[in-house]
Amino acid sequence: MDRIWDDLLIHLRSNLSLFEYDTWIKGLKFKGVYGDDFVMIAPSPQAQQHLQNNHTMIFTNGLLKVSGGKKLNPVFIFGAENELDTPNLNPRYTFDTFVVGSNNNLAFAAAKAIAEDPTKYNPFLIYGGPGLGKTHLMHAIGHRIKENNPSARILYVTSEEFTTELIRAIQNRQNESFRNRYRHVDVLLVDDIQFIAGKTSTQEEFFHTFEALYKANKQIVMTSDLHPQHMSTLEERLKSRFIAGLSYDVQLPNLETRVAILKSKLEADHVQMDDEAVFFIANIRDGNVRELEGYLTRVLSYSQLTGEPITTKLCEIALHDIIPKEVSREITIESISEAVCMYYGVRMEDLVSNRRSQNIAFARMVAMYLCHTYTDKSLKQIGHYYGGRDHTTVMHGRDRISTMAKEDPSMRSAIEDIIKSIRRSAN
Ligand code: ADP
Ligand code: MG
Repeated sequence: MDRIWDDLLIHLRSNLSLFEYDTWIKGLKFKGVYGDDFVMIAPSPQAQQHLQNNHTMIFTNGLLKVSGGKKLNPVFIFGAENELDTPNLNPRYTFDTFVVGSNNNLAFAAAKAIAEDPTKYNPFLIYGGPGLGKTHLMHAIGHRIKENNPSARILYVTSEEFTTELIRAIQNRQNESFRNRYRHVDVLLVDDIQFIAGKTSTQEEFFHTFEALYKANKQIVMTSDLHPQHMSTLEERLKSRFIAGLSYDVQLPNLETRVAILKSKLEADHVQMDDEAVFFIANIRDGNVRELEGYLTRVLSYSQLTGEPITTKLCEIALHDIIPKEVSREITIESISEAVCMYYGVRMEDLVSNRRSQNIAFARMVAMYLCHTYTDKSLKQIGHYYGGRDHTTVMHGRDRISTMAKEDPSMRSAIEDIIKSIRRSAN
């Protein structure tokens, strides 16, 4: 392919003026071939626009000539490139910081094998309950591929981000650049894929993204809270493709693994704690790793604030309110949206859209109010999630519902019911 690029440059040099060649072609870099797309990176958005508008034809003809008759589409991209050079991966989430136990050893081994040899298993899916290391393993794959191959283009997104970007692209008529962003990567990491289930246009777009990457032999890694077989609203064609690759689950860690995880976190933070206290924390609950980390943070900060050494007694005091009680699913923008949809009988795709019919708009205002009250999302983030609205719209919605809640008992009980249903669905 590098030869095709060299030959193409020769073709362009003899078909463009020296001025044009120097101005527009010299700064252009060849990225790779993705299916039928011959992808090049322009040094600026202006260059990208100019090349696309004025020189697509000459590139198309040149490619046809130098590729020996294979039809390749020239694609000029910009922007996503810099971002993909330093993928948005959490630096803490590496294979080295992941504690392996009987609950996750197969997922771990497969993740490592894929990181060392991408597309060995494609797609790769990690599934299991919350807080069990799915995102951690996914980032670890990204880090390792980047270490082995610094020029690999790695894109990490949550499926909500994919959805909101898609909605925005459709609104702004930028489907083309949306596609270019997703279909020209070497590794696509999609977190929490379950959120696309039931969303028609997102599933449609993701299907084509998936196909394009799969056919171009690019690695796709996904995480999900369920095995695809059990996602009732996931389109069949996606289900069968997800299942066709390799999938492993992660489960709750046993006591031994919980102890090992706590010890590894303590070591990383250079904190001393005696074994009895470590076991006390590990024993509180048969819970997930995120909870366990939360307990540890509480204990450490309590000890710091009071200046007292970490003992079992101190753990008991610091965690007194947790020890007997249930720990429920966090209230998140997603769980709120799901519960609001159920409560008002609205479809998720409508809730996150910009449709204005009365019942949808009302449900959306309630969702915005709840997100503002119960999550730490900003007005801007909330607006972005619900159909790309600006923060003043969110503010008006929130104020209206909060006024209604003060004046109207049935509004208050609706809000309570929705919150209760989120807490209940956690157990
Ligand atoms: P999930 O994506 O499954 O909800 P995460 O990957 O976000 O879970 O993990 C939650 C937290 O627990 C993260 O801080 C992660 O680093 C930590 N964690 C989970 N599993 C492990 C493990 N096996 N070893 C070390 N840390 C872990
Ligand atoms: Mg996760």
